[in-house]
Amino acid sequence: MTRGKQKIEDQKRAQEKNAPKKGSQIESRAAAFKLKCHICLAYIINESQVAQHYENKHAGKPVTPLKTDA
Ligand SMILES: [Zn+2]
Repeated sequence: MTRGKQKIEDQKRAQEKNAPKKGSQIESRAAAFKLKCHICLAYIINESQVAQHYENKHAGKPVTPLKTDA
């Protein structure tokens, strides 16, 4: 009984090892973009989100995202 369960656990662990890490993908994308809202300083990871962010959060404000070096 326990041996069968162990096998499934081992398979799960092996799959997790092979699966790409989602967190690191998001981080690298944000690093590639380097844009920040100049009002609330939120990171914006792609160009289409810049306009959307200003529209949603700061309607009527100029769309002038900051470029960050970090
Ligand atoms: Zn903002």
